[in-house]
Amino acid sequence: MGNKETSGVGGNTTCVEVRCGDEIIIFDSGTGIVNLGRTLMKELPVKARLFYSHVHWDHIQGFPFFAPFYVKGNEFDIYGGTCLPKTIQEVLQQQMTPPCFPVKIDLFGATLRYHDISQGDVIEGKNMKVTLGNLYHPNGSFGYRVESENRSLVFATDNEHLEEKMNKNLLHLSQDVDVLIYDAQYTDDEYYGRNGQFSRKGWGHSTMREGIKIAKAANVDKLVLFHHDPSHPDEFVGRIEAESRKIFPRSIAAYEGLEIDLNDPDMPKSMFD
Ligand SMILES: [Zn+2]
Ligand SMILES: [Zn+2]
Repeated sequence: MGNKETSGVGGNTTCVEVRCGDEIIIFDSGTGIVNLGRTLMKELPVKARLFYSHVHWDHIQGFPFFAPFYVKGNEFDIYGGTCLPKTIQEVLQQQMTPPCFPVKIDLFGATLRYHDISQGDVIEGKNMKVTLGNLYHPNGSFGYRVESENRSLVFATDNEHLEEKMNKNLLHLSQDVDVLIYDAQYTDDEYYGRNGQFSRKGWGHSTMREGIKIAKAANVDKLVLFHHDPSHPDEFVGRIEAESRKIFPRSIAAYEGLEIDLNDPDMPKSMFD
């Protein structure tokens, strides 16, 4: 597939920035963090918290290419810990060792502080609070809820729904949030293996319909369909968004550069509007 077919949604892997006043939170360092790094280089010195849902490749690949890590005076608190045989520090450092990567992590000029976390932990800043819960994914993943000044958001990607019951951690995290960012990688046909598709059950991802179930049950205001399958071109994602809006009108397919102001009651502009 050429880039043209996916240039709207964008081809980068997971990275989401959340701003709570002057505090910066980053979720995951997929390749999307490279562009974020370019933006943050205009705001030196950078102080931010980086939370990992988990450390599958598509969520860590951009780590060595995040320009603010190379600048002295920047400070980062890095949080992770799903099913790691080692600490989050060791896992990330291991990624930057030969023969897989030539630049050693010692070249980073910024101060990096690592924190191993688990379900039940609460991380508080000046103006924000982050709580986390285990999602259902091979090797585990964390969903995160951010609260700041009566606004709230959940980042819940790399999660497979359970057919018998809804994930109670996710339901709990998502209760009454303004925005739920949810793993809607597959269509129902892909997930259940219908209409010529093979089944993706057990692969650790979910569907738009399951996102809507959670959004309705937890009284979510806006649903962001996230972690699109790499084989879905823009127009295909557009069809998923249109379907979703029939059932849950306040839903939107995520795309590169999408910004949501949690104080704005209106839906952000869809890529397809
Ligand atoms: Zn994953
Ligand atoms: Zn992933």
